Order: sequence, then C-alpha cells, then structure tokens
Amino acid sequence: MLRQYELVERVKSYDPDADEALLNRAYVFSMKAHGSQLRASGDPYFSHPIEVAGILTDLHLDDETIATAILHDTIEDTLATPEEIERMFGPNVARMVDGVTKLSKIEAQTENERAAENLRKFLLAMSDDIRVLLVKLADRLHNMRTLKFIASPEKRRRIARETMDIYAPLAERIGMYEFMTELQALAFQEMEPEAWASITKRLELMRAGGGDLLARISSGIRLLLGRDGIVAEVTGREKQPYSIWRKMQERHIPFEQLSDVIAFRVIVDDVADCYRALGVIHRRWPMVPGRFKDFISTPKRNGYRSIHTTVMHTDRMRIEIQIRTREMHDQAERGLAAHWAYKREGDGAETQQASYPWLKDLIEILDHAASPEELLEHTRLAMFQGQVFAFTPKGELIQLPRGSTPVDFAYAVHTDLGDQTVGAKVNGRVVPLRTQIQNGDQVQILRSKAQHPDPAWEGFVVTGKARAAIRRFVRHKERDEQIEFGQKLYDEVVSRLPAPLGSNALKEALKRLMLPDEASLMVALARQTIDDEALMEALMPGAVGKPEGDKRPPKRRQQRSAVSIKGLTPGVAVKLAQCCHPVPGDRIVGLRRPGEGIEVHTIHCRHLAEEADAEWIDLSWGTKNDSGTARLRLVVRDEPGALATATTVFAREHANIVYLTLEHRDRSFHTYAIDLEVKDIQHLMKIIAALRATGGVSSVERLSG
Ligand code: MN
Repeated sequence: MLRQYELVERVKSYDPDADEALLNRAYVFSMKAHGSQLRASGDPYFSHPIEVAGILTDLHLDDETIATAILHDTIEDTLATPEEIERMFGPNVARMVDGVTKLSKIEAQTENERAAENLRKFLLAMSDDIRVLLVKLADRLHNMRTLKFIASPEKRRRIARETMDIYAPLAERIGMYEFMTELQALAFQEMEPEAWASITKRLELMRAGGGDLLARISSGIRLLLGRDGIVAEVTGREKQPYSIWRKMQERHIPFEQLSDVIAFRVIVDDVADCYRALGVIHRRWPMVPGRFKDFISTPKRNGYRSIHTTVMHTDRMRIEIQIRTREMHDQAERGLAAHWAYKREGDGAETQQASYPWLKDLIEILDHAASPEELLEHTRLAMFQGQVFAFTPKGELIQLPRGSTPVDFAYAVHTDLGDQTVGAKVNGRVVPLRTQIQNGDQVQILRSKAQHPDPAWEGFVVTGKARAAIRRFVRHKERDEQIEFGQKLYDEVVSRLPAPLGSNALKEALKRLMLPDEASLMVALARQTIDDEALMEALMPGAVGKPEGDKRPPKRRQQRSAVSIKGLTPGVAVKLAQCCHPVPGDRIVGLRRPGEGIEVHTIHCRHLAEEADAEWIDLSWGTKNDSGTARLRLVVRDEPGALATATTVFAREHANIVYLTLEHRDRSFHTYAIDLEVKDIQHLMKIIAALRATGGVSSVERLSG
C-alpha cells in the first residue's frame, strides 16, 4: 500500500502545483473514517481507496480526482456525510465522491432491481464529470484485481459479468485500452476458468517451444526498419487469453489453427515514419488481405489512431503489427486521461486536441465555464457527444448514434423487429417514428407481423443497419411489383394473340428470348426491354402483323375493400363503387338500396343522379385507411419505353397497379385504363402530376364516374 508521502510525491512529480494539503487531508480523513474495517483479503479496508488513487496517479490525474479516489468509499461505507466532505474538500470533490457513491449503490442491487430507471441514473451520473467515471473504472479495476478473495462464487461471477458487460466497454469507449484489456482478462478468468486455463497453458507451451520468439521477431523488425533509416521501438506481446478465446469463438477454430497469437507494436517518431515503416514491412513480408486498417487517416470514434496490419512472417505464422507514433501510443494506452495530462503539460496540446474534436470542446468548456452548473451541463453532453443511450422495456441498454429514431432502435435490437415496426412509445407515450431518441429514453417498439419496412423511413433513419434493411426490402418489393406488372402486360399481349396459346408456348418463348425463367420475362416486360411485338413473335412465331382477332378482355382482379368509414352503423356491408373509384380523402356519399349493403361513391359521381330511389347517407373517411383504388386513363405516345417511363413513376411513388388494360391503340397513341392502389387523394394527385411531367405521356386523367 502506498504511504501518504509516496502518494503525494507521485502527484507532485507530474503536477508540481498540486494541492499537497488537500491530498494529505484526504489521506488522513479516509484512514480515520474506515478505521479498523477489513477487506475480504484481510487487508485494512483503507488500502483499497489508496490503491485506487495509485492507479489514477499512473494516469497523471489532477489532485481533485486523486482526493476523490481516496475518499470514494467514505460516504457509502463509513459515518462520513456529504456535508462533511464538502466542508473539508470543497464542492468539486464532494460532487465527485457523491457521483461515485451513486454508481456503487446501483452495483449493490440485484439484477432485477437494477432496472431501466437505475441504469438511466447510472449513465447520467457517470456523465456528470468524466473524472467520476475514471475513479469508478479504477475502483473496479482494483476490485477485479482482488476478486479472488471474495468467498461467494455467485458474487464473483456477478461482478465479473458486470465488468465484462459494462465497465470494459466503457473503458474502450473513452479509449483506455490498458484498463479495458486488464478488466477483460480478469473477468474472463473468472467467467470461463477452464478456457482460460487451457489457453494459458498452450501459450506457455508455445513459449517453451519457440525460444524467445517475441524478442527475436522484435529485433528482426527493428533491424529491418533501421536499414531504411527508421528509428523504431518494437515490442512484442502475446495476445490476451481473452482475445484469443474470442477469436476462437468467432471463427470456430481450435487454438492450433489460430496463426496470429502474437502481435507487435512499432513506435516511431512521426506520422511520415509510420507510413514508411508500413511500406518496408509490406515489402519484406506479404500482407494478409483484409486485415489492414489505417486508423491514422481515419481515427476511431474515441480518437484512437494507429496503423494495423497482419503479415505472413513465415509459412505457418501470421503476426499482427501496429504502427504508431509515441503520442498516439500514450493516448491509446491511457485514452482520455492522456489528454488531460497533455493539456496540463501544455506542449502539443493543440495537436492532441485536434484528434478528439469532442474533447477539445470539453476542455474549452472546462476552462471557460462561467458556473459549475454550466460546466456540469456541458460535460454531461460532451461525454457521450454523438451517442445516445436508450433502454428497452426490459431495461436493456441500446447505444445509438445521436439523431437515431425508434426505427434505428428497432433495427439495433433485431432486424425482424425493425421490419415489423408499426409504431413506437417513448417513455410510455406514442410518438411518430421520426422522433429523435434522447439520452435515457425508454423505447417500446409496437410491432405487427404483417408489417413491412416503409421506404419513407429511409428519409430519417441514421444507422447503416436500418438503412440497409430498408433498401434491401425496397429492392425486393420493386422487383415483385415489376413481376406483377409484367404479368399484366403479358396477359394483355396474350389476349391479343389470334389464337389460344399451346401449353408449351411460354417455355418455348423463354428459350427464344434467351431468358432463364418466367420472372425474368415479366421484369423484362415491365422494364420494356422486351416489347409487345417481340413477345408475340416469341410466343407465336408469325403472329405479328396478322389482324388482332377477337379481343378477350382479361378478368378483373377482386377489389380489396379494407376501408374505414365514419357515419356507418357497425356491421353494415359496405363496398366502394366501381364507377367512380373513391380513394381516401375524396368527398364521399353512401347509397343504400333496399335489401343491399351500402355503396360508397364520390360526391361528383354521375351515377348518383340516377339513384333517386336509394337512400343517401352522409359519410366521411375514418383514420385507418391505408389505400383505395383509383382509375386512371393514361395516354402514351407510341414510342419505345413510353409506358416504362410511366411505370417508373408508379414504382417510385409505391403505387400498386391492380388492373391494366389497353383500351385503344393507333399509330400515334396507346390508351390504357389503369386501376391504381394509392394511399389517398394527395398521393393520387402527386402521381398524376408526376405522370404529366413525364416524357412520352400525352395525357392522364382520373376516371370518376
Ligand atoms: Mn471502492
């Protein structure tokens, strides 16, 4: 255990202006407060906060943070009060000790009690001041180092799992890889003791067999670089048992087949040397494809910079090499904490900060904040700038980029959930799907198995996962629509053939057209890469040019009538009139004839005048309508691709063609009747406007009675 003067000396060594008296007061206060309490190890309890403070001096943290570390368990475990702490150590230390205490309380709860509400507080408290988090991580690290002294296996396992799930990722998030690695190593050892033992043993065997492999390869790399005038510090290490284990899991391969269990780090003077060293290394040993990553030109979100590559060192051995500058190295090991150190030391502060844009803001705020409240508010935001944390109803934590919506959330939980999303509740209230999720929100996704992704979502989602899933769906849907539309064109062409088709005609036609299957033919027809005549000729060679014979109009498809209309007695049969094709948003009226159901017409329908006997019922649309079918008359010029251009409008607007027939055809124009499924009148108007603006379209009108 560090003695009082040793601890003070350490802090003074990197921060000569540190408040010595503050540190001394904290040391004595904590020692007295913890008194004769003992740790599970049998050590005096007091050794724990001092060790935690010691860990933080390695990170060169400021005097207030060190004092917080020394005092971090006094409120929770002794008679000391927050008021006392504030009086003796000032508001900053008091606030930070309070922050750490809150975090510890949550830890002490059982899994069930630690529900969403607590996790939310946990995150917010942690975000109050990054230094609170640093103390908490050091506290956890020391507890993990002494985990073996805890008698209860369940308790050990719980602490290990929590470390793996919460603290190691947090350390990674703020770039403290050294912390992360040690936390993972200790937790892994507890959680998977057998795997840990067997991997450790194999590493020992490898070491025994290979002589001083790490040193040999390291000096080889150093000499190689030296010949090109690059001064480098090269160190080798075995990968951690945990990361080896994870790799074995991910790739489903046994230890023997893992060819890169050793890794090397090349530290050079400047960025130019990083790239030169990379060139030299790649010239000497072949690189393994797919493993090269340049985090210097594109740093990780947490600011991490390095070049990673893997090369074939010998036939059987791949080695991973990381190349970085000294500064990058310090940051990678100490993350955020390194920044604070650089900031205080003054030199290079500008370049350091440039690599962590969010931290630059933060340091500025720390320097210039007018009040503690302002500081608090800003540091809380800056801590996870670019990130929001939200919870599932079960309290599971989902981390998302800022600006994420419930749709992003749903896809982050599971692709199926995303696909089936129909709505969302945030903190118990139904919200639009484009709502941006705020930190700490609880998000419940309302789902329906019948639901599909809405292409309009692409306009507001921010995560790649959501966007990719929506696009994938739209692509499939477009193809489905094209097949359906192509089928209609096909039927229509067949109906114009002079004679009925033989049973093998389609098969033969596919061969003649050199298409693999029916679906491809339908897509080709929809896209008009095959025109009517070519199809006719393929189906019935010699048919083109003969008179069209008797036209057999294709059968109409059954109309869907999932409508919601206000003003009706429940249970009364209702159907949309086939003369005027009302769609949601049209002004409508109901006609009731004796002994029949109600027929819904648009208010302008000509047939209304003829229905003097029927009873007129005043109706309006309900809220649940998702579509109606409108009839259009579309006249296109007789030129290649004219109909195809029109169809792309339907596809783009996601309007489904329910029925299509060629009404009239002459030298200049083709006239089609199209029944189009649209969302509502606005949707229809938009489509008509788009059609009118489309080349090849001569005219378009809605037929309504
Ligand atoms: Mn503690």
